[in-house]
Amino acid sequence: MPEEKSKVDMEKIVSLCKRRGFIFPSSEIYGGLGSCWDYGPLGVELKRNVKDAWWRAIVHQRDDVVGIDTSIIMHPQTWMASGHVDGFSDPMVDCKACRQRWRADHISGDKCPGCGGELTEPRQFNLMFKTFMGPVEDDASVVYLRPETAQGMFVNFENVMTTSRKKLPFGIAQIGKSFRNEITTGNFIFRTREFEQMELEYFVKPGTDEEWFNYWVNERFNWYLKRGMRKENLRLREHSKDELAHYAKGCYDVEYLFPMGWSELEGIANRADFDLTQHARHSGRSLDYFDEETGQRYTPYVIEPSAGVDRSLLAFIVDSYAEELAQGETRVVLHLHPDLAPVKVAVLPLSRNEKLVPLSREVHAELRRCFVTQYDDAQSIGRRYRRQDEIGTPFCITIDFQSLEDNRVTIRERDSMEQIRLPIKEVVETLQAKLSGENFVTQPLWTAKPISAVEGQL
Ligand code: ATP
Repeated sequence: MPEEKSKVDMEKIVSLCKRRGFIFPSSEIYGGLGSCWDYGPLGVELKRNVKDAWWRAIVHQRDDVVGIDTSIIMHPQTWMASGHVDGFSDPMVDCKACRQRWRADHISGDKCPGCGGELTEPRQFNLMFKTFMGPVEDDASVVYLRPETAQGMFVNFENVMTTSRKKLPFGIAQIGKSFRNEITTGNFIFRTREFEQMELEYFVKPGTDEEWFNYWVNERFNWYLKRGMRKENLRLREHSKDELAHYAKGCYDVEYLFPMGWSELEGIANRADFDLTQHARHSGRSLDYFDEETGQRYTPYVIEPSAGVDRSLLAFIVDSYAEELAQGETRVVLHLHPDLAPVKVAVLPLSRNEKLVPLSREVHAELRRCFVTQYDDAQSIGRRYRRQDEIGTPFCITIDFQSLEDNRVTIRERDSMEQIRLPIKEVVETLQAKLSGENFVTQPLWTAKPISAVEGQL
């Protein structure tokens, strides 16, 4: 059976991202740098919206989670304790004929997938970027760029717990850059060497961990659905025993049907007490929790939902991308959830006629106090609608000559292309209601059975 793939073509996504200013190849004027990408004016808005949506759901709308922002360079002992210095490696093979390099666990068979040539024996390659701190480049000054944000939460467990007066269960969240010297990169922003993660470390009492693990798998799966991602393009994959780290009690990947096939968006793991125990051992500081209710002292277990910002952003673009026939023409549209759309409202005067300018500017000034807006008066109104469709703007406001007479404007909705006319003084309130996330997504959410009853994909 051929491997299942999304119907959306990655080249079209890359081209739209470049054309409309979402994502550019990094340092392009110098020929680009492999696997590095820059977010343009619309990309940066979309990325911030993805991160804000996560932060709101994980931190602001909960009593039991607080956020932090830790440094990228950490004490080198951190990576001894976490196991990254000894174990954060992938098996690498080289083709003896064409010299191409592959990750051994990503290819099947013992021949080069590129040219069919003979491959070398696999060698373990550590993925951490090394650099030196201070002016002397010797072994004593070696430091690493963090390959995940998680360790920032573990080493601050005590600081956060005491200063925020949290009791178990509680979580610490962080969004930030991570670096991995991946052997092979590709599929646009799916796998890069510099990327952003959104991670939560949720500390629980041992014995309650299975329940919380189940809870977070549900929460995280539904987070994507609530932001409009289609259920048929999402699935959960349970890690098999030989995929699991030796300390982990369980792990699920949320996978998305990308143009190259089903691939990981996010991992949710039950890491037991491994991390806190390791840091306690290496630092000599107790990271136990004193349970005032029972008088017991123990090392909390941790449930870790770990998501990629860039991968989520790519999945949201792919999922919302559509080519539709409208009035005899094909229109490209991003049906982005309004919380994620980079621009919420575009103000489009019918023409550049000087009589229309004052009112159009006035309406724009009023709207931009409440929403991220764009003012566009270049080219025909039809082309401007198409441009806004392509960048996923949920609403366009058109001001025409009639507006000068009756103080009414036209609101055009991106998805249905329906147009309604209403008084200018009602525009802000109407848009506020229409843009409210809850009014937008109508698909049913997912309720998992207990994990043990869920087998493989849903
Ligand atoms: P993979 O198997 O794809 O290499 P992983 O299992 O090593 O990923 P984790 O260590 O679980 O990934 O990292 C958590 C999340 O961080 C991933 O689900 C992904 O969204 C993101 N991520 C990890 N590595 C990369 C990368 N090289 N580029 C972009 N995002 C990444």
